Amino acid sequence: MKFQRQTSGSIACPTCRQLVNIQVPRCPHCGRRNPGLWGYARTVQSLGTDLGFLPFVTWGCLGLYALTLVVNIPGIRPTGGMDIMAPDGSSLFLFGATGAIPIFALGRWWTLLSAAWLHGGLLHVGFNLAWIRFLAPAVARFYGGSRLYLIYTLSAIASSGLTSIVGAFFPDIPILSLILGNVLGGGASFSIGASGGLFGLFGAIITYGQRTRDPSLTQTVLIWAALGFVLGLLFPGVDNWGHLGGFLGGFLVTKLPWFDPERKLGHKDFLIAIACAVGSILSVLFSPIHALLLPLLLSL
Ligand SMILES: [Zn+2]
Repeated sequence: MKFQRQTSGSIACPTCRQLVNIQVPRCPHCGRRNPGLWGYARTVQSLGTDLGFLPFVTWGCLGLYALTLVVNIPGIRPTGGMDIMAPDGSSLFLFGATGAIPIFALGRWWTLLSAAWLHGGLLHVGFNLAWIRFLAPAVARFYGGSRLYLIYTLSAIASSGLTSIVGAFFPDIPILSLILGNVLGGGASFSIGASGGLFGLFGAIITYGQRTRDPSLTQTVLIWAALGFVLGLLFPGVDNWGHLGGFLGGFLVTKLPWFDPERKLGHKDFLIAIACAVGSILSVLFSPIHALLLPLLLSL
C-alpha cells in the first residue's frame, strides 16, 4: 500500500469503475463527485472492499493483547480454559477496560470504545478474531467499507454502554434478575473484548437480509448469533449483556437511511472510516496517557 498522492493519469471511478482522469471534479460516466478522492483513490482502492478493516482489527487486537501481556509478565495467568494466557487485570485497566466501575465510578467514558481492543486470554482473542474475519468481508460487501467501520465502532460502544448501565443501575431489578438474572448476570463491573463489535456484525447482516428480502440469510445469521449467545451463557465470565448491546447496536443502526445498501457511498463517506479508526486508536492511547498525566497534574 502506498500513501502517495497521485496528481496525473487516470483511475477507476470508485462508484462505476469506468476509467476517469484523476483530476475531474465529477465522473463523466456516473456523475459521482470527486472520483479521484483528492488523488488518493488508488490508495483507498488498494485497501480493498473493507478499506483495510480486517488487518486493522486483527493487528490492533493482537498487538494490544501482546502489549497487555508484556507490561506485566509476572501477572500473566498461564493456565485454565478461557483464561489461558490471561493478562493481569491491572494491565487491562491500564489500556482501557470498560464496565460499570470504569464508566460510572471513575468517569473513564472513552473506555466505551477502547475496551473492544482488549482481550482476556488466547482463546478470547482467537475466537473473536476468527468470527470477525468470517463476518466482516460479508458486511463490507453488503454495506461498503465505511459503513463496516461505523457499524463495528458503534456496536462496540453500544455493547460497553449496555453492560455498564446494567452493571451500575440495574443489577438487582426484580423483574430483570428474575427473568434474566441467572442467565445474563447483572452487567459487568469490568468488561473487555471485541465481541460487542462482532455481535454488531451479526445484527447488521440480519438487517441486510430484511432489507433485501432474503429470509434464508436472515435466518442463518440469526441462528449463528443465537448459537454464539447460548455459548456465552455456558461459559462463566462471558459478558452477555455486552453481546446483547452489540447485537442491538448493529441491528438498529443499520435501520437508518444512511445504511441503505441501495444508497451509494459518496466521495466524503470514506472519511467516516478514517474517523472510526482514529477514534479507536485515540481511545486506546488515552488510558495510558491519562495514567501518566494524572499523577503529574495531581502533584501540581
Ligand atoms: Zn463513475
